[in-house]
Amino acid sequence: MTTINPKAPIMITGASGYVAGWIVKNLLEAGHTVHATVRDPAKTKSVAHLQKIADNSTGTLKLFKADLLDQGAFDEAMAGCELVLHTASPFIISGFKDAYEALVRPALEGTRNVFASVERTPSVKRVVLTSSVAATYGDNIDSLKVPNGIFNESHWNTSSTVDHQPYYYSKTVAEREAWKLHAEQSVPNRWDLVCVNPGLVVGPALTTNSISASITTLQQFGDGTMRFGAPHLWNGLVDVRDVADAHVRAGLTPEANGRYIICGDTLSLLQMGSALRQHFGSKYPFPLVPAPKLAFWAIAPLFGMTRDYVSRNVGYKIGFDNSRSQRDLKIEYRDVRGAICEHFQQLLDDGLIKKKA
Ligand code: NAP
Repeated sequence: MTTINPKAPIMITGASGYVAGWIVKNLLEAGHTVHATVRDPAKTKSVAHLQKIADNSTGTLKLFKADLLDQGAFDEAMAGCELVLHTASPFIISGFKDAYEALVRPALEGTRNVFASVERTPSVKRVVLTSSVAATYGDNIDSLKVPNGIFNESHWNTSSTVDHQPYYYSKTVAEREAWKLHAEQSVPNRWDLVCVNPGLVVGPALTTNSISASITTLQQFGDGTMRFGAPHLWNGLVDVRDVADAHVRAGLTPEANGRYIICGDTLSLLQMGSALRQHFGSKYPFPLVPAPKLAFWAIAPLFGMTRDYVSRNVGYKIGFDNSRSQRDLKIEYRDVRGAICEHFQQLLDDGLIKKKA
């Protein structure tokens, strides 16, 4: 049991991000003081939405500069905080040359850096880490090894490496390191750790500046990538507002503990396309038919995927047990199909997907 004083400031790392924006909004609207770290507070485009929310709410926003790789950079923002929400970590799945530098180093060394600040900050009582379902499984084929193909909080990703599924690997090593550092804390039980493990997050963003793969995934439904069909590829999905609620409740519910899978539903790319078609009609190139696995395997490199990835992921249905989050955090999941459509509409309105008459 950990009770957080609601009057103490709450720190959040990576506040400019897609997911973090909604967490900050929740906290500010509930009247909290938020110590928000961003890489560059002078980049007004990245933080203007947060400032606007603060101006229209009862809470107080204080911005701090901190890079995951700058040792000690989080100390100033953390001073006086009882609750630390660590969301910062790169979520990109393509466009990098060195997966270790782009993903693993910031995730792992960043976690060490933030947790070293926690050790130096006696006021901290709880840390909430944004992990991912990617820390519970590595490839969809892993579903064959768990009862009914359903992953739960007892499962760990044991198959990802820096060369295969590097984003999944980055989330796994970061979460494992967090639990290790929690177990080794210098004053036993001074602070507890709660991990939030969301599926692929969908739903409207509060910023147009994020490069989150959530946004690039949705863009692919409008840019013709899946015009000729989509492989049978399933993802756990969750509304971004549920993910924000989960972080706040994981932080402020005294009994919260351990890991929480946060996942509203599991849909294939075709099912996502079908939800979009029902809402927007046929003017956008939503996938209509399944792409045969063998054909897709052959051309996968053209889509930035390895053949190994296709072999281990296409055609294997997965599921996630979200019952812990419903029971302990009282999450009542929103409809992910609605969130996908809202998100797509926003990308059209923001010009990130070309509008069709
Ligand atoms: P996002 O919008 O790209 O946010 C990532 C955040 O990490 C940004 O605020 C970014 O700051 C920060 N960051 C990256 N490298 C950094 C560094 N070296 N130093 C300091 N900050 C750094 O992506 P998101 O989707 O909101 O992801 C947020 C968290 O949720 C991540 O931990 C991600 O793994 C996790 N997650 C996301 C999903 C999803 O589907 N979106 C699912 C499960 C878990 P800048 O603005 O300065 O770049």
